[in-house]
Amino acid sequence: MIDSHCHINDPSFKDHPEEYINLGKSAGIAEFLVVSYDEKSSRIAVDIAKNYSECFAAVGIHPSDVKRMKKGDLESIEKLAKNDRVLAIGEIGLDYYWDKEKEVQDQQKEFFIKQIDIANKLNKPISIHCRDAYEDCYEILKSHPVNKGGVMHCYGGSPEMAKMFIKLGFVLGFGGTLTFKNARKPKEVLESISDKDYILETDAPYLAPDPYRGKQNHSKYLHLVRDKIAELRNISAEEVDRHTTENFNRIFR
Ligand SMILES: [Zn+2]
Repeated sequence: MIDSHCHINDPSFKDHPEEYINLGKSAGIAEFLVVSYDEKSSRIAVDIAKNYSECFAAVGIHPSDVKRMKKGDLESIEKLAKNDRVLAIGEIGLDYYWDKEKEVQDQQKEFFIKQIDIANKLNKPISIHCRDAYEDCYEILKSHPVNKGGVMHCYGGSPEMAKMFIKLGFVLGFGGTLTFKNARKPKEVLESISDKDYILETDAPYLAPDPYRGKQNHSKYLHLVRDKIAELRNISAEEVDRHTTENFNRIFR
């Protein structure tokens, strides 16, 4: 399995990456995409990716972090993104759940577009964080196409919009929320797409799957997401592994 979205660069893991990676490996994880949310976490992600052959990095500024950006951060992201170990720009996008003021939302849009420009300049895909903003996100992706596509991380939109994002060259990332009892929407989406359209993720340390909901997440729990997908799509766990690995490699390599 490939964990397409985890934060080994998070303060809870960054001082012991080896311990994290070994635990993940013994639970069947072959590769980890370490996704960033600001300039500092991007530098840490690239360091981890340089030091551990199982790890790759995504660098970028999360929408909720744009208001804390410092001068020169974007230039630094672009410089880091040139490294071969960096597979994507992310996580970038829009979050209207936490930021309701129009001024902040406009700023999020501006930096989302600027980071799409970096991705296109370097010919890399993007990892999108989108919460309560699917329509604006879609409009931006339509007017600023991403050459290499990418992933809608932790997809929580409708089945109809899922098809629209897939048409623009995106796959959908599914994680712990899929295993929650009240997860009607992601289940509907997963039943409406093809085997080419989804990849696995944990978002560790966040969004631990059932029965660990509310606790610290870890890549070692990814098999719970994989097994849920197998159950919902009525295919074997091995088939989910094969499809998700192929899909990850098609987008990110
Ligand atoms: Zn994340």
